[in-house]
Amino acid sequence: MLTDEYVKRVYAQVEKRDGDQPEFLQAVQEVFESLQPVVEKHPEYEKAGVLERLVEPERVIKFRVAWTDDEGKVQVNRGYRIQFNSAIGPYKGGLRFHPTVTESVIKFLGFEQILKNSLTTLPMGGAKGGSDFNPKGKSDAEVMRFCQAFMTELSRHIGQFTDVPAGDINVGGREIGYLFGQYKRIRDEYSGVLTGKGLEFGGSLARTEATGYGLCYYTAEALRVLRNDSFEGKTVIISGSGNVATYAAQKAEQLGAKVVTVSDSNGYIYDPNGINVDVVKQIKEVERGRIKEYAERVPGSEYHEGSKGVWSVKGDIALPCATQNEIDGESAQQLVDNGVTVVCEGANMPSTPEAIAVYQKNGVLYGPAKAANAGGVAVSGLEMSQNSYRLSWTFEETDAKLKSIMETIVANSLAAAKEYGHEGDLMLGANAAGFVKVANAMVAQGVL
Ligand code: GLU
Repeated sequence: MLTDEYVKRVYAQVEKRDGDQPEFLQAVQEVFESLQPVVEKHPEYEKAGVLERLVEPERVIKFRVAWTDDEGKVQVNRGYRIQFNSAIGPYKGGLRFHPTVTESVIKFLGFEQILKNSLTTLPMGGAKGGSDFNPKGKSDAEVMRFCQAFMTELSRHIGQFTDVPAGDINVGGREIGYLFGQYKRIRDEYSGVLTGKGLEFGGSLARTEATGYGLCYYTAEALRVLRNDSFEGKTVIISGSGNVATYAAQKAEQLGAKVVTVSDSNGYIYDPNGINVDVVKQIKEVERGRIKEYAERVPGSEYHEGSKGVWSVKGDIALPCATQNEIDGESAQQLVDNGVTVVCEGANMPSTPEAIAVYQKNGVLYGPAKAANAGGVAVSGLEMSQNSYRLSWTFEETDAKLKSIMETIVANSLAAAKEYGHEGDLMLGANAAGFVKVANAMVAQGVL
């Protein structure tokens, strides 16, 4: 509930201006609830109009992407780059290619990215971009032509010191390679303008694993500090089967847990013997197939139609790693009734406000996305550092830095939660800790 007069006034303004952007409003509302005790303690933020400025992107870029498919037919998609906030560093955030991409979706992701990037402790502003292009069923050549057309326009707006995009849903190593090649061709410049690059051309070791591994490091640290517990012997429910889900499953297993599910938009796999990550990778990364095929290859596993069913599986820890709003109030209640006491988010905004209310009512250890999944962008930040140094760190070095960043995020979130009178609240703490750094930078830099 919004009670603070300043916060209420700014939220009403957002509702009036962006009433047609439900995902963006949802993200702002959640953050604003957490920030009430912060702005009450810091009247200088209201004086400097920090919240009014925080919810207004510095720049919204929207463009046509025309490309030719394998039949020679011209296709037109919509491209976006929303450069939200550059108070603490160059704009940074991923690109998502998915038919559900709208301005509202990119805005919610960009807004979350401001606070997430701040939490990593690295100097990165917030941005997001993408397109409603659907790479599913497209040939390699079509994906390449799309990426080249997309970058032809995007290249005018980005740069290693301006804005550094990376991947998100459906934008992985293949797409980043095509995008990087086209940027280099157009600008005749070899720079760290994108992260998530191939290891041969400036990529960082451990970037591929970073979001999933980071999610588990964060969860393990929160479990240790708040419950004196660990992954050891726990049953874990994971949704999704992309990059985040795959490496979260691998790390959870390494930490002694058993992961029993993965899913895609059609349905989910239940494997009582523990998900075989190599099979998931083969199906999703190499063959670009559907998760259904897992059940045909792994004896003892089952495929169930309907992705929501994954939340009815019994377990101790849930790691949603698919997409926004994948857990509603009803699914959250199912999780709690089935014994889940920990929900840490690998996807961005996977829990609806109703789901979060269920976690809070039932004492679930809830790790919000902007903290729990910050490992991806954190290693992107480390990739930028390596590119600037023109050297590369070993996997072990980078992974150790990632682990330490995730542990710092837990510590900083808990410290902020305590400072603002909500001890143990990882959501309020993440929002507050991420915000204060950005707000102070904004105040210091004057009215921009
Ligand atoms: N898309 C990822 C995220 O949601 C990573 C962004 C990046 O590496 O810039 O944080």
